[in-house]
Amino acid sequence: MKILCVGRNYVEHAKELNNPVPEAPMLFMKPATALLNQGKPFFYPDFSTDIHYELEIVLRICANGKHIDTEFAPKYYDQIALGIDFTARDIQSRLKEKGHPWEIAKAFDHSAVVSLFIPLPASHTEGLRFELRKNGEVVQSGSTSDMIFSFDDLITYSSRFFKLQQGDYFFTGTPAGVGPIKVGDVLEGYLQGEMLLHCEVK
Ligand code: ZN
Repeated sequence: MKILCVGRNYVEHAKELNNPVPEAPMLFMKPATALLNQGKPFFYPDFSTDIHYELEIVLRICANGKHIDTEFAPKYYDQIALGIDFTARDIQSRLKEKGHPWEIAKAFDHSAVVSLFIPLPASHTEGLRFELRKNGEVVQSGSTSDMIFSFDDLITYSSRFFKLQQGDYFFTGTPAGVGPIKVGDVLEGYLQGEMLLHCEVK
């Protein structure tokens, strides 16, 4: 399986990192080895001193497809979860300055925490609220109604380049409020008020 991700899919988050708002989804990927199932601790890696959390809604791809038309895109995902796209911001900033690829800042082992999946709520097109609490304090809150590119847009665009396969995951972008973690932090993700994700930093 692969983990597709989109960067800068919420205007306020693009602004907080001084990035322009993109005209097309800015895709990147994480390998299967990046996956950290929920409930397992995240061990702070030795290659970075500035790991950031990014809380995101994750789609589970439920059918194989390529060149998917927008009208059929909803048939390609049926479950959602919350995920944390852990990012080595210090490494990413250095690589961005040089115009180099970001892989080691984004796709390292256990950089993709994913909660249990739940069926996609029928009301999702009206916007799903989600928030991240760090040590009990709300640090990120967003709604999918603020996404620049919708779930369907992401499915359609990405499938022009990458065949989507059943069991793939799609991280759909983070709202504003990203920030650093340290050893001992407890991260909890809430979707529509219900806690879905729990991760301790060790
Ligand atoms: Zn992200």
